[in-house]
Amino acid sequence: MKYISTRGNIHKVNSAEAIRLGMVPNGGLFVPENFPIINDEKLKKLINMNYQELAKEILSLYLTDFSEKDIENCISLAYNSFNFSSKEISPLVKLTDNVYIMELWHGPTAAFKDMALQIMPHLLVKSKEITKVSKETVILVATSGDTGKAALEGFKNVDGIKIIVFYPKEGVSEIQKLQMNTTDGNNTYVVSVEGNFDDCQTGVKEIFADIEYRKSIEKDSKEFSSANSINWGRLLPQIVYYFKSYTNLVRDNVIKYGDKINFSVPTGNFGNILAGYYAKKMGLPINKLICASNDNNVLTDFFLTGEYNKNRDFYKTISPSMDILISSNLERFLFDITGNNGETVDKWYVELQKNGSFKVDEDTLNKMNDIIYVSYATEDDTKKEIKKVKNSYNYISDTHTAVAIKAVDDLNNKLYGVTVVASTASPYKFSESVIESILDKKIEDEFAAIDEIAKIGNCDIHRAVKNLKEKEILHKETIKISEMKDIIKKIVINK
Ligand SMILES: *Cc1c(COP(=O)(O)O)cnc(C)c1O
Repeated sequence: MKYISTRGNIHKVNSAEAIRLGMVPNGGLFVPENFPIINDEKLKKLINMNYQELAKEILSLYLTDFSEKDIENCISLAYNSFNFSSKEISPLVKLTDNVYIMELWHGPTAAFKDMALQIMPHLLVKSKEITKVSKETVILVATSGDTGKAALEGFKNVDGIKIIVFYPKEGVSEIQKLQMNTTDGNNTYVVSVEGNFDDCQTGVKEIFADIEYRKSIEKDSKEFSSANSINWGRLLPQIVYYFKSYTNLVRDNVIKYGDKINFSVPTGNFGNILAGYYAKKMGLPINKLICASNDNNVLTDFFLTGEYNKNRDFYKTISPSMDILISSNLERFLFDITGNNGETVDKWYVELQKNGSFKVDEDTLNKMNDIIYVSYATEDDTKKEIKKVKNSYNYISDTHTAVAIKAVDDLNNKLYGVTVVASTASPYKFSESVIESILDKKIEDEFAAIDEIAKIGNCDIHRAVKNLKEKEILHKETIKISEMKDIIKKIVINK
């Protein structure tokens, strides 16, 4: 399998190279040049596989320059009972006869980012071996909260790698901040930035695109890479749980083999839902994918009008991991929808960078809407949904998950068959908002809110937030957006 650029600006590379580089050096994202089809016969064989076996089937189709043994190793280092508290890895929970919850937060940091970031560091180490690169890798991460901690956990103490995480100082929850700032490990750096998530992400992207600056760092036998969902090594592992949910539903006699199902995905950078789209392209019987947004509904508007316009107010919401106005992985989706038209995608993204907006043609818009439904939830909608889900089904959902459940309610008349909701965080991770929604009263202390969830949910506190209060704060630095390059230089060269 070879990888090409969404901007049509490179020669093909193999998967190890794509993962090692993270992003196409002269702009654009790596995508596989085609999508392997899992035919009916093969899909049937997947039904009885466990998560690890299924992951091996899927990953092997894309990592053709890795040996079978290497893939197996990476999988067992990631998806084991030490890292994941559920044997199923991505267990399904029934909400109603037609709605199931796919819990993606049983990993070490309580958010779905673990699904990919527990394996990606191992894929990266292997990729360096395969491409015979011995330079130290400096991972740059811009985070709206969850990626940062998941990447820190995945990469800490991994040989030959340093990781630097930038987060918006006022844009993450108290728990998220504590999770990141207490991370140990001999290669982890966490810096807060006076700006919002898009500022952090744009800063990192500019650093990747600044050849002069990169040369000045890389001459010291270092190279940059990314752990954001623009890296193929992040996206690929996410395809697996779409298959797993399907096979579980067949195994448990909820659907018949061949029945089509829908997925509702709380969306920010469009990475998670894109993995679902890729699963559909591979032949998984998916009817519709629902792109659920919060008040930062730039994607809702895009699918309704064909105009992507980031020139709008930015809202800080109770689902902060979706507070995003530039949805990076959309580029990959558009590349595919336009039949791999790198020239057109390039034109749109140059416009986006210049004017903050672009508009797709009617044909593209129709194709987008054939596959994806959209909906968004306001802050009030989200709180009401959390309360409703608790009262009606005795299930405690986090704020992001609630946005996606609400979307299923909204689109109920247009959906056929079973819908699986991607639950992207444990309610413990956004405890204050969850408790406020259920009890209609504010609890100012996030730790008191955590205890309250354990009480009303009658469930164990997620280990990611347990004992957080007692941990030592190890990272304290705050910078301006304009200081990102300097701090990287300081960390990478002077230490
Ligand atoms: C990252 C994240 C999302 C958004 O996922 P994308 O792949 O960026 O669309 C949603 N919910 C939670 C809890 C997240 O951490």
